[in-house]
Amino acid sequence: MRVYADNAATTKVSDKALEAMMLGLTTLYGNPSSLHEEGREAEHELLKARMEIAALMGAETDEIYFTSGGSESDNWAIREMAKRGSKKGKMHLISTEFEHHAVLHTLQKLEKEGFAVTYIKPEANGIIDIEKLKAAIRPDTALVTVMYANNEIGTIQPIKEIADICHEHDIIFHTDAVQALGHIPVNVKENGIDLMSFSGHKFNGPKGVGGLYVKKGIVIGNLIDGGAQERRKRAGTENIPGIMGMAAALKEAVEEMDTEIEKLTALRDRLIDGIIEKIPAVHLNGDRERRVPGNVNFCFEGIEGESLLLRLDLAGIAASSGSACTSGSLDPSHVLLSIGVPKELAHGSLRLSFGKYNTEEEIDYILEVLPDIVKTLRLMSPVWDDKNGCMKKISF
Ligand SMILES: *Cc1c(COP(=O)(O)O)cnc(C)c1O
Repeated sequence: MRVYADNAATTKVSDKALEAMMLGLTTLYGNPSSLHEEGREAEHELLKARMEIAALMGAETDEIYFTSGGSESDNWAIREMAKRGSKKGKMHLISTEFEHHAVLHTLQKLEKEGFAVTYIKPEANGIIDIEKLKAAIRPDTALVTVMYANNEIGTIQPIKEIADICHEHDIIFHTDAVQALGHIPVNVKENGIDLMSFSGHKFNGPKGVGGLYVKKGIVIGNLIDGGAQERRKRAGTENIPGIMGMAAALKEAVEEMDTEIEKLTALRDRLIDGIIEKIPAVHLNGDRERRVPGNVNFCFEGIEGESLLLRLDLAGIAASSGSACTSGSLDPSHVLLSIGVPKELAHGSLRLSFGKYNTEEEIDYILEVLPDIVKTLRLMSPVWDDKNGCMKKISF
């Protein structure tokens, strides 16, 4: 048995998305910029996909730009809005400590180029305190970028409140909604979002395709020079199969959202309750309620996350530690450190993320094998005090 519990990393392409992609790869192979019938047909599909995707998030059709995914959209939005600010002498940006690296590394580069960045520390429950955002605002703040839902701990941020505060101060608000769109209701207009990044492969669409919503009236500079694609902002022949697949996937995700939220919330809560009941010395990361339906993230005292993942994989379970371990050094997750999880404990993290193809039997299977794996690893661990059932040295 294989259980795929790493849907926050990527998802399986749905049947409907695949069907749409096949059409884009076969019948609709024309170049949308060509004037002949094949080209016009492809252009028609491109427009249809853009209209659908826009409508599904409450945007206008020409507010959507297609990109290669979430990372590209984050880079583009942040760089260009910083540049826009600098032209008015605004050199300050605000973000959070627990953003995705596509945001954090872009900001770090901008710091080297002379921008000042304030990184807000999230609260212990993984949610940003609005008062801390207010306090960070300066007269020269150009941009606030705060993710919609966190990719490791799943916590959902108060997006509308953040947008309102930004607009009171004439600040642009960008959000990385890669973990939110297609999973929870997202409406750019109702929330007052200025720019929003999204990615197809996080909602059962294909990889290598995503988009950026840019509110009408905000001028964004070019990303790629060349042809006239994407309203002259991002040149290159459009990824028609990918865009069609992403549109079909988002349509399906939004149509099924109510039932999926109900199903996944039940699965998630069953797993959280089961882990707390069956395994001692565990800590749930992120707010119990205000998190995306499919996210479970725990720290296990006395355990190395990497060995846990290997054992789970052998038992047929694909999960993630949520930690960014680079070869050689095992750095604990910046997300967990940002919410105040001690370093020693952050090493023992496990993220299980679920999607439309997961079942209750799979949750029960995880609950069957996980406690024994944790027990075995703890008995081998030099930092585990088995007599007292906790980690040595540090106490909670
Ligand atoms: C996956 C992810 C990204 C990157 O998206 P890609 O399409 O893989 O480039 C960015 N932000 C968040 C929150 C993500 O989860």
